Amino acid sequence: MDTIPLTDNHIHIDPINGEGPIEIANKFHRAGGSCMIIPNKPTWTVNNDCSFQESMELVVENVNEINKSTLVKAFAVVGAHPAELSRRLKSGMDIKKAELLMRNALKNAQKLVLEDKAVAIGEIGRPHYDVSVEELKVHNRIIIYAMELAKDAKCPIQLHTETAGPKQFLEFAEMADTVGIPRNRIIKHFSGPCVLEEENHGLTPSLIATKNVIKEGLKKGNNFLMETDYLDDKTRPGAVLGPKTVPRRTKEFIRQGILSKEDAYKIHVDNIENTYRIDLNL
Ligand SMILES: [Zn+2]
Repeated sequence: MDTIPLTDNHIHIDPINGEGPIEIANKFHRAGGSCMIIPNKPTWTVNNDCSFQESMELVVENVNEINKSTLVKAFAVVGAHPAELSRRLKSGMDIKKAELLMRNALKNAQKLVLEDKAVAIGEIGRPHYDVSVEELKVHNRIIIYAMELAKDAKCPIQLHTETAGPKQFLEFAEMADTVGIPRNRIIKHFSGPCVLEEENHGLTPSLIATKNVIKEGLKKGNNFLMETDYLDDKTRPGAVLGPKTVPRRTKEFIRQGILSKEDAYKIHVDNIENTYRIDLNL
C-alpha cells in the first residue's frame, strides 16, 4: 500500500509568507505523498505590488525547486483568481480595464502551458461571495475565454466557484460545450462529493479531502481527484486542511477498508494522468 503514489490536486506554496516549497514538499512526502499539483497564489497574497506574471513565474520556480531537491513530483497550474477582479473593482479600477487585465493574465497563463512550464490554467472562475450582476457577467466571460485558451492549449482548467451542486456543474458543462472543450477537462476545485455523472455532468470534481466528503464520494465511485487547498500562510494557520491530509486520509481509508488499493490508484494516478495528460512516472 505504501507503493501507491498519492497526489494532492490543489495545494498552494508560499515562499514569502509560508514555509515554502522544500519544507512543504518534504512534509507531504514524509506523510506518503508523491505528487503535488500547485496553483499560483493570488497576487495580493504574495505582496502588494506583485503582478500576475510574477505570481505565475513564482509558482513555476517553486515547482522546479521541488522537482530538483525533493522526492516529490510537482506540476504548476497558472491563472488569475476571480477575487483578483473584485479587488481591482473595489479599488476603483474601471471594469473594462480590469477585465482586460484578467484576460491578459490568462493569455500569459496559456503561454506558460504551451511552454510546458505549467499543466493547466487555474484557478479561474467566479467568486464564492455575492457580486453585482455586472461583475458576474465579466466573470462568466472570463471563464469562457479561459476555456477557449485551454481548448487551444489542450490543457485542463481548475475552476474556483461559489458552492456548486448539479445545477452549477451543468452550467459550466454547457459553457464547455459552447466552447468545444471536453467537459472532463474542466476540474471543479474544492468540490463536494459530486461524483455521480448526474451530479457533475461530466466535469472532473476535485474533492476537498475532509473525512466526510471523501467517504461520501467513495460511496458513489472513483471518478474524482483529491485536494487540500492548503494555503501555506503562517498568518492563517489551520484556515484549511494541512499539507499531509491527502496522503494520510488515503492511507487511513485503505487501512479501514473504506478504499481499495485499485480505487486509490485510479484516483491518485490514472485520473491525474488522464486529466492533465501527463506521465507521473512514479
Ligand atoms: Zn486555491
